[in-house]
Amino acid sequence: MWFLRCLILSLALATACWTGANETAAQTPVKVVASFSILADMVSNVGGDAVQVTALVGPNGDAHVYQPSPADARAIAAANLIVLNGWGFEGWMPRLIDATGFTGVRVVATDGLSPQPLVTRRTQAPTPDPHAWQDVQNAMVYVRNIARGLSEADPERRDDYRVRADAYLAKLRDLDAWVVAQLSAIPEAKRKVVTAHDAFEYFGRRYGVTFDAPIGLSTDSEAAAKDMARLIQQIRAENIRAVFIENMSDPRLLRQLASESGAAIGGKLYSDALSDPAGPAASYIELMQHNVRELVVALAKR
Ligand code: ZN
Repeated sequence: MWFLRCLILSLALATACWTGANETAAQTPVKVVASFSILADMVSNVGGDAVQVTALVGPNGDAHVYQPSPADARAIAAANLIVLNGWGFEGWMPRLIDATGFTGVRVVATDGLSPQPLVTRRTQAPTPDPHAWQDVQNAMVYVRNIARGLSEADPERRDDYRVRADAYLAKLRDLDAWVVAQLSAIPEAKRKVVTAHDAFEYFGRRYGVTFDAPIGLSTDSEAAAKDMARLIQQIRAENIRAVFIENMSDPRLLRQLASESGAAIGGKLYSDALSDPAGPAASYIELMQHNVRELVVALAKR
């Protein structure tokens, strides 16, 4: 009798515990760590209130040369899901993840895409270009990968993630069509731009703009004197008017390039990071809209 009473009590307690844990799980947001601000914004769009997102490299930050902190390692250790770009963009991230013993779900946003190899002026071998998000069609692949990762980390809210992802993908489809329409209104011969580093190759291929830059795929290198001289000559010869600084790169190089070539600074492009929340590129969609408006104004001047 004593044994039976004990058994019934244990079962009741276990049930109470189990129900309690379940209720907590339904209310607790999924903890997501994204390597940089653009991915964090995509996660927020798909996850809504169900997720709590941390970006390791925040607004206007440079993920190429980022030095992770102990707080970053703690955030990863406590996360249910981590999202990174891949293709060597945040080269410090795989080591950091391994060091934390993270066992949750890992999403590489570029999964399923093929990297565009870029032979830089400094490296002989082609290097995979990581800036795939600058083509909105690639960003849509990122969003599908993020939605899949969230559903794996939090299967109970799978349907919510699908609905939110579909709504966001519809907005991105409209954005892609808008960018195509905006740039196709500019004569092709005029669509030439100089920026700080090679971050816009995917944008250029998708939307028909030629980009050049004094430094390569990563901001961890310095401009060679001969690259600067070549660009100055090219800007003059082709009458390139659109020289842009970037939000996360040192603007001094571009200012020097502009003053030595006689070109004006066309404005600021947001390449590898969002602006702060009050700025013109607080989300991925606003980033693309801002960049395209700036480009169209500068290119239409010639
Ligand atoms: Zn970059």
